[in-house]
Amino acid sequence: MSHATPHTLLVRGARIEGQDATDLLVRDGIIAETGTGLSHPGATIVDADGLIALPGLVDLHVHLREPGYEASETVATGSRAAAAGGFTTVFAMPNTSPVADTAGVVEQELALGEAAGYVHVQPIGAVTVGQKGERLAELGAMADSRARVRVFSDDGFCVFDPLIMRRALEYVKAFDGVIAQHAQDPRLTEGAQMNEGAVSAELGLTGWPAVAEESIIARDVLLAEHVGSRLHVCHLSTAGSVDIIRWAKKRGVNVTAEVTPHHLLLTDELVRDYDARFKVNPPLRREEDVLAVREGLADGTIDIVATDHAPHPAEAKSCEWAAAANGMVGLESALRVVHRAMVETGLLEWSDVARVMSRTPAQIGRLDGHGTPLHAGQPASFTLYDPRPARTFGLGDLRGRSKNSPYLGRELPGEIRWTVRTGIPTVVDGAVLETPGVLA
Ligand SMILES: [Zn+2]
Repeated sequence: MSHATPHTLLVRGARIEGQDATDLLVRDGIIAETGTGLSHPGATIVDADGLIALPGLVDLHVHLREPGYEASETVATGSRAAAAGGFTTVFAMPNTSPVADTAGVVEQELALGEAAGYVHVQPIGAVTVGQKGERLAELGAMADSRARVRVFSDDGFCVFDPLIMRRALEYVKAFDGVIAQHAQDPRLTEGAQMNEGAVSAELGLTGWPAVAEESIIARDVLLAEHVGSRLHVCHLSTAGSVDIIRWAKKRGVNVTAEVTPHHLLLTDELVRDYDARFKVNPPLRREEDVLAVREGLADGTIDIVATDHAPHPAEAKSCEWAAAANGMVGLESALRVVHRAMVETGLLEWSDVARVMSRTPAQIGRLDGHGTPLHAGQPASFTLYDPRPARTFGLGDLRGRSKNSPYLGRELPGEIRWTVRTGIPTVVDGAVLETPGVLA
């Protein structure tokens, strides 16, 4: 357990969600007061002139690799990466070893997060035993456990069997859970190396067609409608998928969808260099898809941004393209990428960023007390972001164990200056603290 005590902080002149400069007094882990000209004897003064205050970011989709794959990441290192990116809550995918498919493993994950102390680590439970797609896991036991699991996913794999998917959707209704689907028809993507399109044809690489994602999403929104349950679509990546979600929502289906920062910014043209940092599942798509997912996020069809932070050690990425692992780290860069793709383009305001990167992800995960607005009486979990700098993203920006970021060497706007979780600073003046709450 982290025994750090909350600090008394007086944040001066922060622009809450991009609005006019306001002071925030933080005491006992909550926001005690907001207003102008606040003072408090003994408080640590935080000069936030020109900084944007956002509610602590919430990521519904990360891979922390522990237990089992600690050479790639641990809960502690991934939590540090999350804090560096302005996050105060992350949802951890269950594709660990052992798979998080029992109450015991999800409670272990929760405890590892508490021990690290940087962010709240909320476990996601597997839908099927061992993520094998054959039998439902102990969903009820995970829901009733100390981890209070509400999100279930076989992410990394698609729940392909429609009867298993139907049963899972039915089961989670009892406790208001949600099935988060990795939408990928495995037969249509056998041997796939990149997006199927003009670039894959030119390079002679086996393609991952958009229809392999869209056909599963179409099936699942109909199943969710049929059983009256809640579906969440992970890392939606194609223009056609946006159309299907838009149609489903209009029809009243209880569906939410996420997009990753990389699908908002990068295209399959990057594969031409065979740099495996750009190999990811679902793959980087066409320019038309990037524009469509941006539009979908702007008009509310897509509900949230989630990173799909997927650490891999150097040897899994420095090999030839065909053998390289899928996935990118994304926690440290997410807010800066969303700034570039969505705010600089005029598609989102900072209040929208607070919605898609904090409030709504917490709501989808049914996590009370997270993603709450920066009002008096609410938990003091926030990030202070400086939108002014534009710097090259470098190795020094990466605080997790793996370095497989597609943004290394690329200029990105902004800088995370402070992250505070329930009154406990984790990032101070742009530097992650060695121990949460212990200022140097
Ligand atoms: Zn996935």
